[in-house]
Amino acid sequence: MFIKSNILRSPHAFAKRNGGVSVKEHTKSLNLAFGRGDEDDVVLENLAIFAKSVGFDEESIVSHPQIHSDKIITVGAQNCGEGYFVREGVDGCDGYITRERGVTLGIKTADCVPILFEAEKNGEIIAVGATHAGWRGTVADIAGKCVERLCGELGADASGIRAAIGPCIHSCCYEVSSDVYDAVRENLGGEVAERFVTPSGKDGKYMCDLALINRELLIRRGVPAENIEIIEECTCCSPEKFFSHRYSSGLRGTMLNVIFIG
Ligand SMILES: [Zn+2]
Repeated sequence: MFIKSNILRSPHAFAKRNGGVSVKEHTKSLNLAFGRGDEDDVVLENLAIFAKSVGFDEESIVSHPQIHSDKIITVGAQNCGEGYFVREGVDGCDGYITRERGVTLGIKTADCVPILFEAEKNGEIIAVGATHAGWRGTVADIAGKCVERLCGELGADASGIRAAIGPCIHSCCYEVSSDVYDAVRENLGGEVAERFVTPSGKDGKYMCDLALINRELLIRRGVPAENIEIIEECTCCSPEKFFSHRYSSGLRGTMLNVIFIG
């Protein structure tokens, strides 16, 4: 039902697509997002199953609509339920940080890059974070901004941050056009573009490695390379295991990636 990182000590999970109750061909079986073809009750039942399996209170989830931005919000107990049980008046965002126990951060993905963060200081986990990044969030450096917020706002040291980059579409499958190459070059520099967005052999097409770009952005902010793990699973290569937007041409369910302070 889910994959775990080897380096995070906080309770967390990157969902796979199995183990839920969705029966439609494209959402079976652990679809965790509304608006993908399942009745809302089915999504909530999947959330309950997933929460029980991972070990969090389903009502503690915070997972707003995602908007491919660099917007990160600081959340606490007052935000619990937002995105699932509270849906009115919930603004979109693509990242969260918290220092509170009992708050489960949730990032929804189906090819985009989920990153789960924890900040340790003096042997204690003092904060956790989570971000969602497709290519737009990646070039907006939402990963680096999450490190900055954990440090500037919640008192973390970059050297004490660990980050796990979850299942996402890898460079084997993520063919992009020159607009992505140009955006990476313009926002993150020519060296990053040359290293991680490489010509595919087809005219004007490139293979883009979002996981490695995000790893680079974390390192730039001072996170030690040995504190960063990339889960080497490509969502598009394994459609039986994961929901993949690219593989399914958009007709797919959605996975949820969660972390909380244990
Ligand atoms: Zn692949």
